[in-house]
Amino acid sequence: MFAIFKKLGWFFKLRWKTYSLAIGGLIACSILSAIIPLLIGQVVDLMAQGNITWPSLRKYTLILLIIGIVMYGLRYMWRTTLFSNSTLLESMMRNRLFDHFTKMDQQFYNEYRTGDLMAHATNDLAALRFVAGGGILTLTDSISITLVTLLSMFVLIDWKLTLFTIIPFPLLVFVARYLGKWMNKYFRKSLTAFSSMNDRVQESVAGMQVIKAFGEEEDDYEDFVSETDNVVEANRQVNLVNSAYSPIIETITGLTYVLTIFFGTYYISQGRITIGNLVAYFSYLGNLTWPLLAAGRLMNTMERGNVAYDRIDTMLSHTATVQSPESGIDSLPFNHIEVGIDSFTYPGASSPALQDIHFEANEGETIGIVGKTGSGKTTLFNLLLRHYDVTEGTIKYDGVEIDQIDLDYLHEHVGYIPQTNLLFSTTIRDNVRFGRPELTAEEVERYTQLSDIHEDILEFTEGYDTEAGERGVSLSGGQKQRISIARTMAVQPDILFMDDAMSAVDAKTENTILENFKIQNQIGITIIATHRISSIIHADKIFVLEDGKIAEAGNHEELVNAGKWYANMYHQQQLEQKITEGGDEFESAK
Ligand code: ADP
Repeated sequence: MFAIFKKLGWFFKLRWKTYSLAIGGLIACSILSAIIPLLIGQVVDLMAQGNITWPSLRKYTLILLIIGIVMYGLRYMWRTTLFSNSTLLESMMRNRLFDHFTKMDQQFYNEYRTGDLMAHATNDLAALRFVAGGGILTLTDSISITLVTLLSMFVLIDWKLTLFTIIPFPLLVFVARYLGKWMNKYFRKSLTAFSSMNDRVQESVAGMQVIKAFGEEEDDYEDFVSETDNVVEANRQVNLVNSAYSPIIETITGLTYVLTIFFGTYYISQGRITIGNLVAYFSYLGNLTWPLLAAGRLMNTMERGNVAYDRIDTMLSHTATVQSPESGIDSLPFNHIEVGIDSFTYPGASSPALQDIHFEANEGETIGIVGKTGSGKTTLFNLLLRHYDVTEGTIKYDGVEIDQIDLDYLHEHVGYIPQTNLLFSTTIRDNVRFGRPELTAEEVERYTQLSDIHEDILEFTEGYDTEAGERGVSLSGGQKQRISIARTMAVQPDILFMDDAMSAVDAKTENTILENFKIQNQIGITIIATHRISSIIHADKIFVLEDGKIAEAGNHEELVNAGKWYANMYHQQQLEQKITEGGDEFESAK
């Protein structure tokens, strides 16, 4: 149960001054609260003896009042101190987690689902906050109140009476240990179930259009209900254990009351203690009930924190397999790529996704990559961008092995436009200058004009100030793609990789955009993976990938003459285009 304090030791060390202050205040409060029963006992004795006077009553009232005021001040002090520490811990852990997210590689994001990551960043961090605030408070308070009260009972009332009446207390230790184990087990289940439910919400919300298109709302809802049922069931088990605690404690303290009445009355009759002593003793017993009950809550907080810390720790200990080299190379002309992949297998996969991919690309060249879905086009970009390391073989930029190049530097100079485009929830202008926030409005427009999206943007009600992203204006696939192109081009990369980046833009516009950027002489080397052969007709070299291997290589003419897959695809696509154009002509003739 206390393992979590060890785990959070670094934070307590860091904030030892404020924790000492708060704990000091808590202990002082416990001592003061132990004086109160004593004073009440004394007043009762004075009354029983008929010795009570106005001045003595005034004195006792005044002392009680002062104690009350001092305790108020102390309580305010430790509360503010402890709770500011707990929010600090939460924000430190949240920043650490986010920093970790930004450093993680593709493999990490394949392993952890979005909803799971969100659960770590919300629920688990809240559990840690409770440990650093309420947990410390309950722990210190329970220990100090218990110790001070027991000591007062032993020393100030009667040691024999105390000894006989606390006989049932060791039972508490057994109860706490036993229930603690169960608690840990059920908390683990509960947090995992919450993660899974979170993931479900995230996926359903993101995929709502698809769900609706397939009329799967009912099924999706039923799946979700079963996820929430799991969470309810896991929390029910936590509650079952939790609820068992209080009745056990109440029974044990009830036993001590019975023993007190028995031994207390006996000792009064013996003249060993006074009636006032017994009243004070009962008051002390009352003081003990709270820490004992609080121990149950403490156990709850600690076990939840323990499980949450382990979950976060496992995530934080996940090191990215792809690491930027220490003092990596950060100055290259980027005018030559040498791809020498003998084999690449995805982590956890049984067969290679790429084999024997060997080619070179020089300054000014455009390389075309075609092939069926799943033939390895995206994988090739993954390796060229070092999202993964090549299993066997090498990739070199200007003769330098890719793993010797500073990773940030590589990504700053190599532009990549993926198949799916994510725009952020900010204005279109800020989306375009995402990689270079210093760009002026005019410079942004230059890139949107080259990407043939400027006119479209002007038609939006707020022009460049229109919000994009999830909350923003709904953009067509082609518009999103063209904004993404402008965003990448604005970074002025030396090398450009396009992974089916213009699938939603018609062939003519695609050629115009590529031509625009060529004229600007911005890009040294371009590698285009595409389904549309017309996009790469003018490429210097074309590779056809099939099952992760190069099946055909050459320029357009050579490949057409070879009469294989490439030639077939080309003829088929030409035919399709003619039919579409014919259809258009027919439509306009009507
Ligand atoms: P393409 O881009 O040509 O459609 P990909 O490069 O995406 O093809 O996929 C090539 C092969 O690698 C496919 O068999 C695919 O299932 C596999 N693959 C892609 N990504 C992963 C991954 N993260 N883990 C394991 N296998 C993967």
